[in-house]
Amino acid sequence: MKNIPKQLQQTLQENYPIDILSVIKEEKSLDGSIKYLFKLQDNTTVESVLLLMKDKQKDQQGNIIKSEKYTFCISSQIGCKVGCSFCLTAKGGFTRDLSAAEIVAQVVYLKKLNNIDQDKSVNIVYMGMGEPLDNYDNVIQAIKIISQESGLSINTRRQTISTSGISSKIDKLAQENLGIQLAISLHAVDDELRSELIPMNKAYNIQSIIDAVKKFPVDTRKRVMFEYLVIKDKNDDIKSADKLIKLLDGIKAKVNLIYFNPYPGTTYQRPSKTKMEKFKDHLIKKGVVCTIRESKGLDISAACGQLKEKENLE
Ligand code: SAH
Ligand code: SF4
Repeated sequence: MKNIPKQLQQTLQENYPIDILSVIKEEKSLDGSIKYLFKLQDNTTVESVLLLMKDKQKDQQGNIIKSEKYTFCISSQIGCKVGCSFCLTAKGGFTRDLSAAEIVAQVVYLKKLNNIDQDKSVNIVYMGMGEPLDNYDNVIQAIKIISQESGLSINTRRQTISTSGISSKIDKLAQENLGIQLAISLHAVDDELRSELIPMNKAYNIQSIIDAVKKFPVDTRKRVMFEYLVIKDKNDDIKSADKLIKLLDGIKAKVNLIYFNPYPGTTYQRPSKTKMEKFKDHLIKKGVVCTIRESKGLDISAACGQLKEKENLE
């Protein structure tokens, strides 16, 4: 707009940016998932992923209706302070928190770039780069904005925070009663291994996380998701599965087993399919709901932080 005073133009430009993200890299997977590397206004970069799930349902006449379901994997920080030993995002260190606007913008851009209509069902998982509960206020503000009926209108029931387990913040989140879903990156069943994987476990141990989850308000139709990253010869044995069953006793839980996704320089290895299936079958036999995470976008830089790190290496 040139018909307003120069000074006002400048103030608007500096304080009310419109295009706060720009795509600098895009990788499309054979399964339709797309990973974006966005540049922010201060030239830092952050990743977001669109995951595509094909859905088939029968209507009342028995006709098969094909549809697509979208899940957006959204980042909350540039880098991460938690420093998990298996995570590529951690290797890049921590740069800064994302603002609420930058979090919301990822959702807006993923919709816009893929022409996703307002009536299409979208799920959001805060599982991109960063620890969402370490950027608490901005993430909560973003969730509220994204769920506004007059705006993007993505219900909080369709939004999931994934956390490495800051128990005190899980308690705080419970008090907000937002109706949001919770995913806990548990990954280990004893504190020694968990502290090796997630150093923060020394401050917030497994029991403190379990106690916080037990107080968390869960939608009657939903379960708390426990993510369990399976690493060869570290936590893929049946003894660990038994300990996990015990830990989750009394919690409406769902376990999601994740194959460790190797990257250059790591000493951890991907577990075998047989071990993974055995682990899953054992949990199911004992009555625990369990799935193996379908590795979407394995042919692209799938694990969290990989596209950004690759860009840094180039
Ligand atoms: N900080 C939050 C959310 C972002 S990490 C958290 O830790 O939950 C999102 C998920 O990616 C976590 O469950 C994490 O364990 C997983 N992840 C990180 N590095 C991985 C790797 N190399 N292979 C497979 N999953 C990985
Ligand atoms: Fe941070 Fe999550 Fe990566 Fe751990 S796994 S370093 S908490 S992003």
